[in-house]
Amino acid sequence: MRVAIAGAGLAGLSCAKYLCDAGHVPIVLEARDVLGGKVAAWQDEDGDWYETGLHIFFGAYRNMRQLFAELNIEDRLQWKSHSMIFNQKEVPGTYSRFDFPDLPAPLNGLAAILGNNDMLTWPEKIAFGIGLVPAILRGQSYVEECDQYSWSEWLALHNIPERVNDEVFLAMSKALNFINPDEISSTVVLTALNRFLQETDGSQMAFLDGNPPQRLCQPIVDYVRARGGEVHLDSPLREIQLAEDGSVSGFRIGGIKGKEPQLIQADAYVSAMPVDPLKLLLPEPWKAMPYFSKLDGLVGVPVINIHLWFDRKLTEIDHLLFSRSDLLSVYADMSNTCREYEDPNKSMLELVFAPAKDWIGRPDAEIVAATLEELKRLFPMHFSGNDQAQLLKAKVVKTPQSVYKTVPGCQQLRPDQASPIPNFFLAGCFTMQRYLASMEGAVLSGKQCAEAINRSSSDQPAAQSGGASPASLAAV
Ligand SMILES: Cc1cc2nc3c(=O)[nH]c(=O)nc-3n(C[C@H](O)[C@H](O)[C@H](O)COP(=O)(O)OP(=O)(O)OC[C@H]3O[C@@H](n4cnc5c(N)ncnc54)[C@H](O)[C@@H]3O)c2cc1C
Repeated sequence: MRVAIAGAGLAGLSCAKYLCDAGHVPIVLEARDVLGGKVAAWQDEDGDWYETGLHIFFGAYRNMRQLFAELNIEDRLQWKSHSMIFNQKEVPGTYSRFDFPDLPAPLNGLAAILGNNDMLTWPEKIAFGIGLVPAILRGQSYVEECDQYSWSEWLALHNIPERVNDEVFLAMSKALNFINPDEISSTVVLTALNRFLQETDGSQMAFLDGNPPQRLCQPIVDYVRARGGEVHLDSPLREIQLAEDGSVSGFRIGGIKGKEPQLIQADAYVSAMPVDPLKLLLPEPWKAMPYFSKLDGLVGVPVINIHLWFDRKLTEIDHLLFSRSDLLSVYADMSNTCREYEDPNKSMLELVFAPAKDWIGRPDAEIVAATLEELKRLFPMHFSGNDQAQLLKAKVVKTPQSVYKTVPGCQQLRPDQASPIPNFFLAGCFTMQRYLASMEGAVLSGKQCAEAINRSSSDQPAAQSGGASPASLAAV
């Protein structure tokens, strides 16, 4: 079958890859001139890379890791020590660590929590441990039920002191969905905790060894093209055209950069776009269908990714750091963590600025100035006295609608990859899969989408499958 896929983020590319494996021919149509969607990155005039987001891969990302293995690029994941490192609020410039010893899960996680006495007191650890018992005993069904509560509400229900939120979960909630614990659904935090506690390497982190479009997305594109598939940039989906029976008859695309608009015809059609642009392109007759109308409840959350290049080394730490700051979420010195960005003498800090709703509309200079203020607490030794670190340059990447905002009640709104329209499917990290709105979720959604298409193709009589011309980009 020929399958037209709108969107070359990780979900669209993964869908294309697994369709190839099943013997189908994917045609990927990406709106922008760069691969990767939320993992897209660009080079500045000096050749330095800047990214849509600081991206961390976890041991728990089984589907992502399998994809790396299938592409033979596993060596591009740079695994770090099995730890979580938080900035200490009370003592600027110092860190508190959760170190996971070499023991099977959940013993390594318990040892990491029990071994940290900077952030949680013993009564807090005990109250939290008791609170987690239903999640451990009842697993995912309990975790799904908890989607009615925010994380702050869940902690209050279990009599866990608010201080635990301030100490640990403010940072974790911002890292997971760029929002605070009073907004995030407890299902999100419990899903992450479950993976971390149940899988020995679940919380171990890796950085990609370079920019994601070239180091991760391009190998998928090469794989797809080598098997007869196509990937086209600068090809935005403009309209989903319907046949008289209500099924999709074509994707109308393009019309930018002087190119003629085109009608792409295929046997099956996939939207691997984020939920916000998908809603804008839904054909009128579909909008009242519950499967599509419930998408109204899924809305992208704003986030800002900041890159700061300094004239010296600010830290030697080769790991992700949880800032525990009001303005910032996680950050890393990419000159230590990422081979392609390596510099023995100068730091490049990549920092996630969240929650960003009050900042997304402000000028870059204001955002950078506010971030530099925060750095006085994170690196006091470099931002006081006579010989202070000098900022060489900065890049700010704003994403006004990133992953969907995981407030309580969203789980039931997430659509399955198979839609009620027989030849139309969805992929994307917002669609239903057992991982969160993450790279792993995107890859898994693409795989599940390919499986759904494959199932539908084996249900179809041979005469109905096909019919599209082999020339994939048929100009109208
Ligand atoms: C700042 C930041 C930090 C993050 N950190 C992490 C992390 O550490 N770990 C993690 O696992 N995840 C992280 N994520 C989330 C992760 O990046 C996403 O969950 C994942 O990349 C989403 O992939 P996707 O394919 O579902 O969507 P997208 O990546 O959004 O891809 C959708 C694609 O559709 C294209 N498109 C849109 N409209 C059209 C159209 N009309 N026609 C054709 N194409 C169109 C877009 O250009 C895009 O390429 C982070 C995200 C951000 C923004």
